[in-house]
Amino acid sequence: MVEIQGWAAHAAGAELSNFKYKVDELGANEVEVKISHCGVCHSDVHLINNDWQISKYPFIPGHEIVGKVTAIGSGVKDRKVGERVGIGWQSDSCGICEWCRKGEEQLCPKAQPTCVGRNGGYAAAIRVNSRFAIPVPESLDSENVAPLLCGGITVYSPLRNWLARPSSRVGVVGIGGLGHMGIQFARAFGSEVTAFSTSADKADEAKGLGAHHFVNTRDTGAVKKLAGSFDLILSTVSADQDFQSFVGALRPKGTLVVLGASPSPMQISAFSLLSGQKAVAGSPTGSPTDLHEMLDVAARHGIKAITESFAMKDCNLAVEKVKKNQVRYRAVLKA
Ligand code: NAP
Ligand code: ZN
Repeated sequence: MVEIQGWAAHAAGAELSNFKYKVDELGANEVEVKISHCGVCHSDVHLINNDWQISKYPFIPGHEIVGKVTAIGSGVKDRKVGERVGIGWQSDSCGICEWCRKGEEQLCPKAQPTCVGRNGGYAAAIRVNSRFAIPVPESLDSENVAPLLCGGITVYSPLRNWLARPSSRVGVVGIGGLGHMGIQFARAFGSEVTAFSTSADKADEAKGLGAHHFVNTRDTGAVKKLAGSFDLILSTVSADQDFQSFVGALRPKGTLVVLGASPSPMQISAFSLLSGQKAVAGSPTGSPTDLHEMLDVAARHGIKAITESFAMKDCNLAVEKVKKNQVRYRAVLKA
């Protein structure tokens, strides 16, 4: 029996406090990872608040993890003790269903999120199925790579799946954790990139990250002027917003991919979709194969999260800053 120390909320919306849990023998296909860094994704905030009605307390958040493998189960062949790995939103899947066999484990009906029904990464250590512990390329710094494990893959997958390319005009809405990585990846795909933000003071940084254009969404007229402009729009906003205006901004056959978990039902008129053969889609995280590929792309194209680091014990401060949209652009907790 081993004890793992973490930071847990004991009720919806509560502050995180020191919490220890016990684990038994390591599973045959599991690795144990000593955590050095963990990003603070806005999904952690939703889960702390029980916005999705799936949180169980005590709840340890955290699913943008980097650390070193300290132990491997008897059946693990793909990871070694001492290896630096990253762990994202997903920690396990059934391994045998249609989606797992296709290498799209993120769609497995038995997919196990890292911090839903399990203890997450605001902690000293974690155990996951070895298939979901992805080796981190040596050239990438642990602090800057941690946010790629959830935020990065969530913007990378739709760019890949909706075939962003040099001829594409891509919009990224919400320049927070996901959005600032979305700009960099869309640029790496060769597309023309427009950043949409409520924060006018992010314009210079968005352009520095690779955006060709910056649009202040508080100016509703500015979004309307872009009607019929985009092949692909990634919406990363965590709050309710005017989705209809972004459908209007799509070119015929364009797609609005919803990544942010806005709380209210979306209001979009059927007519605005059918006339231009437009689509609205969702997209969840990405498979282990896509995580390997994304980290390789990040290493070769110099893509990294811009981070503000906090000691793990200051996790409440980091969470508060994320809630207030004050982080530029991803808070990362350090052991
Ligand atoms: P974040 O760092 O807080 O960034 C969200 C951004 O949305 C903010 O920086 C802000 O950008 C914009 N925003 C915030 N409040 C707004 C409002 N009231 N109106 C308009 N814009 C607003 O959050 P994140 O970690 O990037 O996560 C974003 C969302 O994606 C969350 O809902 C999270 O749960 C979800 N998520 C989904 C997946 C998935 O698999 N699909 C994975 C990870 C996260 P500006 O200042 O530029 O306006
Ligand atoms: Zn996340």
